[in-house]
Amino acid sequence: KPPLLEVNDLKKHYRIAGGLFGGKPSFVYAVDGVSFTVDRGETLSLVGESGCGKSTVGRAVLRLFDITSGQVVLDGQRMDDASKDALRAFRRRVQVVFQDPFSSLNPRMKVRDILAEPIHNFGLASSSADVEARVGKLMDLVGLPREAVKRFPHEFSGGQRQRICIARALAAEPELIVCDEAVSALDVSVKAQIVNLLQDIQRELGLALLFISHDLAVVEHMTHRVAVMYLGKLVEVAPKRELFGRPRHPYTQALLSAVPQPEPGAKRERIILKGDVPSPVNPPKGCRFHTRCPYAFERCTKEEPELRLGDNEHWAACHLNDRPDAENPLTAASH
Ligand code: SF4
Ligand code: MG
Repeated sequence: KPPLLEVNDLKKHYRIAGGLFGGKPSFVYAVDGVSFTVDRGETLSLVGESGCGKSTVGRAVLRLFDITSGQVVLDGQRMDDASKDALRAFRRRVQVVFQDPFSSLNPRMKVRDILAEPIHNFGLASSSADVEARVGKLMDLVGLPREAVKRFPHEFSGGQRQRICIARALAAEPELIVCDEAVSALDVSVKAQIVNLLQDIQRELGLALLFISHDLAVVEHMTHRVAVMYLGKLVEVAPKRELFGRPRHPYTQALLSAVPQPEPGAKRERIILKGDVPSPVNPPKGCRFHTRCPYAFERCTKEEPELRLGDNEHWAACHLNDRPDAENPLTAASH
């Protein structure tokens, strides 16, 4: 059986105008050859600093724009060149929850109508009684009182509004939900509630989540696997324990070093990267991370490392992993 979602060599390049005096147009390499899969019932988190291209990957998976090249495959069916009918089915099966529940809910619609809309659009209910029953069940699922369907979005708190967005996504009976910074705007305690809600719903319904986030503490709490992006490329993909326990890429190590540790004994030394993330208009040759990598050596400036599979389903794109563990600073440091 094919994975639920398969993304193959996805590229999204934007053309930008050639400057004030009419120079040559240039391209932004926002996503530059990204491949991954998401299984049924699985959470894959896509992490990285803002501007790394992770939201663009999410939007490409949602088919919110045409991709430059590559494939987006749902359940064995290619969606990047699908017919209108196939696309319609796809739009039901893949739903989204965005960061900002304020702007993503129509302020003039009551919650009841917000939830009934996808039910109608995708022809999921057999009668108006069925619509009402479904709306009621959705409110139960996200932990909101059924009477609240008569209210408007502004009458709810931020966390409650995000529950409404989740209910709206669920109304379509999706198999995959793309969560783009879905809890990032919420207060810490509310954040934990919404993350737990997403996990409960996932288990109950067997949903897959593509969880896009810059917040590694949240990711560590709720994900199965993690994919790390830097400047439009994946640098590491691994099961959670592997990635957090023995990162195989210097960029991942630096990101993890900034995550607060709950146990005082388990402190990681903070790694401060030099410089800023380079522009995706003209990314560095060789390894894109070499301008900031504390371990960069000559080969890194010339040859681009491929994402390669190591043991324990652990993928990494770094030349250091060609060395034996004892001579690899990434693995030697943890012994
Ligand atoms: Fe650093 Fe070289 Fe590995 Fe890139 S390939 S992450 S520059 S050591
Ligand atoms: Mg983003």
